[in-house]
Amino acid sequence: MADLSSQAFPVNTPKFWGNEKELVAKCIETGWISSEGPAVKDFEGKLAARCQRRHGIACANGTAALDIAVQALGLGQGDEVILPTFCIISCINQIVRGGSTPVLIDSDDTFNMDVSQIAAKLTPKTKAILCVHTYHFPVDMAPVMALAKERGLKVIEDAAEMIGQTCAGKPCGSFGDISTMSFYPNKHITTGEGGMVLCDDPELAERCRKLRNLCFDPKKRRFVHEELGWNYRMTNLQAALGLGQLEFLDAAVLRKREIGQLYSNLLKGCPGLVLPPDLNKNEKNIYWVYGVELQPSVPADAEEVMRRLADAKVGTRPFFWPMHEQPVFLQMGLFKGLSFPVAERIARKGFYIPSGLALTNEEVTEVARRVRAVMEGLSG
Ligand SMILES: *Cc1c(COP(=O)(O)O)cnc(C)c1O
Repeated sequence: MADLSSQAFPVNTPKFWGNEKELVAKCIETGWISSEGPAVKDFEGKLAARCQRRHGIACANGTAALDIAVQALGLGQGDEVILPTFCIISCINQIVRGGSTPVLIDSDDTFNMDVSQIAAKLTPKTKAILCVHTYHFPVDMAPVMALAKERGLKVIEDAAEMIGQTCAGKPCGSFGDISTMSFYPNKHITTGEGGMVLCDDPELAERCRKLRNLCFDPKKRRFVHEELGWNYRMTNLQAALGLGQLEFLDAAVLRKREIGQLYSNLLKGCPGLVLPPDLNKNEKNIYWVYGVELQPSVPADAEEVMRRLADAKVGTRPFFWPMHEQPVFLQMGLFKGLSFPVAERIARKGFYIPSGLALTNEEVTEVARRVRAVMEGLSG
């Protein structure tokens, strides 16, 4: 067995399953490297089918997918959009830029939006709810879908962290009017950079395609535009990589769960840590990352523990920083005086440890050993 005692462990190490090289090489051999190539449509069709969606619109990244989703649904001036405060800034970018008003919701102990708090935040101006599945479990979608139906609201599902996950048996990426994915290298399948919008309505899909491609209008003279879009196209090279990865999505999800369960076994009883549960009401933990929270008794914040882990050559990432505490929004006069206690707590007490698909069991064991040593050092 290899000696891992001096090895450094980055927070993410992507895994290639074997056929990606050949698929990418084929793009070069055939000359199809731009977004015009056949792999883009193939990748869109295959991931849409996997998510029980009629349409997939591949794009440049997960942030671009969210921009397109918000714009395609026509959300803008005077509209209110519900979303969690605990999320990545990608979720809120186009809501704010497009002139809608973001209305924030606190998290529950699963790190997802506490859906029981949504109803009280609805006003006649509310137009949409953006759900963001975060780290381990899907958002509890049933009450969200019921509320949206009752109040005539649009639902956007950010499924970037839950590719291959289900919610009450239904695939993540299949909920609501429109779903988005990211294929950044730490996601369950990667295209380097990349994303996708998924939906069922053919007109909405057409709008997304148009927004992705600078709002070129096939019915108009070329280079004449009625509205503004983006160049958010995905290349054939990226889509080819994605096709190779998609064949192994089930294996990726299985492996993530193995890594997560192994960490939980190895870290059981580790002083000061709250470990993620393996199951919740709706689903099994997908362990997109292995996120832990410091117990209130620990005399340190995540920042200090992460510093000590860095000294032990263990890569970590802090949890998201809440939207209501972002300097950029406070400077804009948004979210003044708002407080969301759960999000504020987990942002300060939570972090995740190396969770990449390329980790071996020996490496997971070594990381867990170092995490335990750091935690014992803190409490001792
Ligand atoms: C990764 C991620 C994004 C952003 O995707 P990019 O491809 O990095 O732009 C958006 N939402 C969630 C929940 C993510 O995890």
